[in-house]
Amino acid sequence: MQSTPAARNRTWLFCATAIALQLSACGRTSPETSQQLAAFGTIITLRYYQTPDADAAQASRELERYFRSVENDWYPWGNGELQRVNAAIAAGETIAVSPPLAELLQRSAELEQRSGGAFNPALGALTELWGFNDLLREDWRPPAAVDIAALLQHELSSRQLHWTGNTLTSDEPRIVLDPGGISKGAILAASAVILRELDIDSAIVDIGGDLLVTGSAGGHAARIGIREPDGGKAVAWLEARPGEAIVTSGNYERFFEYAGTRYTHVLDPRTGYPVVDSASVTVVHHDPVLADAAATALLVAGQRDFDELCAALGIDLALLITVSGDTRLTNGMRHRVHWQTEHDTGQSAGHDVPQ
Ligand code: ADP
Ligand code: MG
Repeated sequence: MQSTPAARNRTWLFCATAIALQLSACGRTSPETSQQLAAFGTIITLRYYQTPDADAAQASRELERYFRSVENDWYPWGNGELQRVNAAIAAGETIAVSPPLAELLQRSAELEQRSGGAFNPALGALTELWGFNDLLREDWRPPAAVDIAALLQHELSSRQLHWTGNTLTSDEPRIVLDPGGISKGAILAASAVILRELDIDSAIVDIGGDLLVTGSAGGHAARIGIREPDGGKAVAWLEARPGEAIVTSGNYERFFEYAGTRYTHVLDPRTGYPVVDSASVTVVHHDPVLADAAATALLVAGQRDFDELCAALGIDLALLITVSGDTRLTNGMRHRVHWQTEHDTGQSAGHDVPQ
């Protein structure tokens, strides 16, 4: 999860638009309303179905307040809490971590274990070496192999962390914690709680294509498109069931290009290099955090370890598309997915495909 200065500037424009929409919408119940705002370096779309417009406006305000409260604190390269946690690790100091961030980091450590290390939230130093913490940089080139190898000499793993309650110590000062591979999932999970507390049961929270469907999307199942790597069109779609999160990790949104080769922001902890063979992985699960970690881990693991890793993580619904266009699906996904025909309307990943 990255938050660029450009994205932050856009935030206020979107907020102003959202507030204007809210002011003009009081007293009605629209079949469908939607609002957008920029956060976490992407666009968030909030959709409400058969919800009083005033309730939708209140929900959007509360959700946005929540997004702003974690946006900086969960970003390793900002100036919030996670930056201070990483500074303490680098200095060999013990630090007390707030309950929400401690929960995020402890969950990410558990998922590192369950994924056999394919998902690794302690790789921030490798992300920095590759420069993915600053996608706006110019004249980018890949780091030297010798520097990658030198970094991998150290055990960059959550196993080096020790928690006493919410107090953290690390045995390895080179660890830079980066829970970016699950933070959108955690934000979706928290959004579901906020919506439930407000009695809103028919909404979609869409964080740049990673989304959660709380209810029936206005009496009919929401059709969610799965984007073709590179094409921007939906190659497939599925009907989301209430409470499901649909999360995609891909090689096509954040990357550098050098000498005709694409270097994507998801790194293989075994090699220290960006994922090469996988183009995208979509995971559907009721736990958005698990779905998010699994999508990243399966992208790393690729075709060969797909079945084994799905089983280890308890994932029944997953689809992997490789850079050469091959697909791997779980049995459950085979029953849920509909391949897009030429006659269907193509839509972006993670966005509704019109019925
Ligand atoms: P996105 O953030 O684009 O939705 P992901 O959920 O796959 O995609 O998260 C990718 C982010 O996770 C990267 O930007 C980086 O911060 C971090 N990351 C990179 N490689 C790994 C990995 N192997 N395991 C866990 N996190 C990773
Ligand atoms: Mg992820």
